[in-house]
Amino acid sequence: MNGSNCTARRVIMSVYDSLGVTTIINASGPVTRLGGAGMSDTVLDAFQDAAREWVPIDQLQAAASKMIAQVTGAEAGLVTSGAAGSLTLGAAAIMARYDLARMEQLPNTTSMPHEFVIAREHRNGYDHAVRAAGAKLIEVGFNEVVAGAGVRCAEAWEYEAAFNERTAGVLYVYTASSQPALEAVVEVAHRRNLPVLVDAAGELPPRANLMLPGMTKADLVAFSGGKAISGPQSTGLLCGTRDLIASAALQMLDMDDHWELWEPPAEFIDRRKLKGMPRHGIGRAMKVSKEEIAALVTALAIFASEDPIDENEMHREHLQLIVEAVEGPTVRCHIVESLGDERVPLLEITLIAADAVEVCRGLRKGTPPIYVGHGKLSEGKLVINPMCLDRDAAETLARQFRKEHERCGTL
Ligand SMILES: *Cc1c(COP(=O)(O)O)cnc(C)c1O
Repeated sequence: MNGSNCTARRVIMSVYDSLGVTTIINASGPVTRLGGAGMSDTVLDAFQDAAREWVPIDQLQAAASKMIAQVTGAEAGLVTSGAAGSLTLGAAAIMARYDLARMEQLPNTTSMPHEFVIAREHRNGYDHAVRAAGAKLIEVGFNEVVAGAGVRCAEAWEYEAAFNERTAGVLYVYTASSQPALEAVVEVAHRRNLPVLVDAAGELPPRANLMLPGMTKADLVAFSGGKAISGPQSTGLLCGTRDLIASAALQMLDMDDHWELWEPPAEFIDRRKLKGMPRHGIGRAMKVSKEEIAALVTALAIFASEDPIDENEMHREHLQLIVEAVEGPTVRCHIVESLGDERVPLLEITLIAADAVEVCRGLRKGTPPIYVGHGKLSEGKLVINPMCLDRDAAETLARQFRKEHERCGTL
């Protein structure tokens, strides 16, 4: 797939040239600020095919829903404008359900349950997307581990203790090490008939996490479409129970039609549960196009069916090539592998005699500009994510790194 990503890069280079924008080497992985993942030729073909004809978007989303249900074990699914869009729509769906007046009112939530209980350790910048729907986050637990003042994370009983008549649901941010276990949180929430909205945006691979909705009984799960799934950068997935997905869809789709004529696919949106036709909802500003939907489901089918072992082997070779070119007495290299779970290997380069921030800045200002992972600069480390690198890019990176390291090596 990486080979075809590179083809894509060459084809679109001319448009960047004509705009006077310099293309970069992306060693940070599929991050939004650098344009996300690359799309394969198959995905780009789906995008182009979709652009040439017209279909009712609700029918297309209903077909996407079936496909998403198959690969996630959820009852239904929706193509959204990114995992952040999924979170806003998920929260809106949980608060409004099939209630037209509530849909109309959002993000004003004064007259409806709107509190989402969240572990203090799960708070992060992306929960703005949930608050954008009008939700209020209620924190439980203490951040003792980060504060160095204790050893325990939030516990399931603390969620339960925070539930009251204003509670709409639970927001849970999923990683392999999230505490308390998602299953335990789902259990206490479901005991009170409260739904759980899960942010698992970047938790693919492993592909097994696609099955989170089915495996954990979480009501709604958000994934990014433009990270490892390698769909359009502006897409995401929301998967979950049929009624909540229907509510999310109703609050995103263009609703300018007549009640007498409006026939959404019955298995996707149950018209009988509505008193009338909603007007444009809070998610209207997060619309997705037919091209994006077609491309994302194509990318999802490829992601779900292809074993990433070969691709990771290629990533490892590219990282090894960098290691051999840069390692030395003042440059230590370590390839980080999480064995057996399909995650992409990462290269950590520890600088012993140079300022990591300076080297990082120098690489960005070089020709071509190179953006490396900056999550561990405070530990004196550059992180190389190989997902958007081909062999040429890896060689250029190694060469430019040696130059910058020499220039900055004054410590
Ligand atoms: C990337 C990310 C998001 C946002 O995903 P988009 O698809 O870019 O909207 C949300 N939450 C977490 C934890 C993420 O890593």
